[in-house]
Amino acid sequence: MEADSTTYENTYHANTKVADSLPFTICPGNYKLYQDFIEDNVEKNIEYQIVERLQQFGLLPNTVKCPSSNPDCNVVCKVARVIDRVQWVCAGCGKRQPIRIGSFFFKLQCSILQVLQMTLAWCEDVDITVALQHFDVKPKVAISIYDRLDELAIKELNRQKLGGENSVVMAEMYPDCLNRLSPDTTDQPHVHRILMLADTKHISTYYRLHVIKGDPKNLHSDNMDDDEILKSEVEMVLSNMTEPGSMIVLGNNVPSIDGCVSYQNLVQHCDVDMQRFLSSRVWRQALTLCAASRDLCVAGTGAGVASGANVGVTGAGAGVGAAACALAVQRYLDASLYRLRYEDGFYDHILKLISAEFTETSASDAN
Ligand SMILES: [Zn+2]
Repeated sequence: MEADSTTYENTYHANTKVADSLPFTICPGNYKLYQDFIEDNVEKNIEYQIVERLQQFGLLPNTVKCPSSNPDCNVVCKVARVIDRVQWVCAGCGKRQPIRIGSFFFKLQCSILQVLQMTLAWCEDVDITVALQHFDVKPKVAISIYDRLDELAIKELNRQKLGGENSVVMAEMYPDCLNRLSPDTTDQPHVHRILMLADTKHISTYYRLHVIKGDPKNLHSDNMDDDEILKSEVEMVLSNMTEPGSMIVLGNNVPSIDGCVSYQNLVQHCDVDMQRFLSSRVWRQALTLCAASRDLCVAGTGAGVASGANVGVTGAGAGVGAAACALAVQRYLDASLYRLRYEDGFYDHILKLISAEFTETSASDAN
């Protein structure tokens, strides 16, 4: 019938147009996986279909144990009048459990679909406000999803050190290096210095970006040597973030450290193309992230400008603000760096990490 076919076509059309209606750009591979999860093939309710696909993927457990542990206990998946439209029900004792038990989704106050959507948005580095408004998720819940994903990414990032035997790790200080590497075109004042590390053995360069904590601009400790504080912090970061045996090349704005090579020394042995790469191209993406991270600096927005009038009060305020936003900046840089290593396919990667980290597997096998 004509009415039905029109309806069908409209629905189909609406589904394929979702990407266009999203308020952010999305990698084709990430979008394809998302579509695979939410595709409605009309046999069962859509929530049930999504649950089955997530079980297949490993994001939800395929089986769970009954807490009653009676001999005749046997937990099965059943349609129910709950937000997920399905739940675990024990055929023996009747005990019910949420379908999300033993998973990343457990106790998140939104639908499973919304968690998938917020995760997709996080993978695409979408501003949280844009994402939560579009997907109609409460700010508190959205923040908790983004936080957990940030933490997961940072944990993975920290697993992998840069360099190794016969590998070169470059080090440079932001924003001190800016005039040489690229002109500074932003208006925001520089609150933080960021130690940039680049591992040149990866074709898409691997970076670590460390927000300097003992920043002389923000900590006014007259009886301590600022250069020494900076130097010891750089030393600590290098030993934490690089593999032993790495050849570490220090840029002109990094304090000199025993056992490291200076940039000037290295370039003497390089051809012009390599010199050009090492002096600018190798830092391109790191500089973009450092510049973007300045949007997170609350300390730089008002406190710095107003510091003339109330030196005592504003000075203290700026110190506290700088310490707080240094954490936010560090978090943003770490999560972004991890994202940068994967490009398209990151949604699949992060969902697999979530599965490995949160999904309790085959709890009933023990019986
Ligand atoms: Zn039972």
